[in-house]
Amino acid sequence: MSADCLFCTLYREGEHVNAADGFVAIRDINPQADTHLLVIPERHVETFRDIGGFPPDEARGMLDFVADTARAAGLQDYKVVVNVGAGAGQTVFHLHWHILGGRIRGLA
Ligand code: 5GP
Ligand code: ZN
Repeated sequence: MSADCLFCTLYREGEHVNAADGFVAIRDINPQADTHLLVIPERHVETFRDIGGFPPDEARGMLDFVADTARAAGLQDYKVVVNVGAGAGQTVFHLHWHILGGRIRGLA
């Protein structure tokens, strides 16, 4: 956990549209699609480059949670996007997964 990290804070205090042990999903504050959700793991790693910091069962659980969150939001077809590094558009340095459904305007 990192005290000054926005997504560590939203993990603890945000308005969650889905939650499981170690993972939450929230609505993006600046949606780029009809449905734009963010999956945030409790574990603080800065980018997807550090995915090796996740124990295997937790990494699998995160992927299941992404699919479960999309399903729970009523999405069948959607995009899953991870921006890796500032050059790719990452602005919050706590690994997160974008779920984009319906009409998509950005990120894709
Ligand atoms: P990134 O650009 O790092 O891949 O994605 C960060 C996302 O977090 C952006 O889509 C941005 O709109 C969203 N975001 C930034 N601050 C907040 C916030 O305070 N609340 C929520 N719900 N989303 C945020
Ligand atoms: Zn964090």
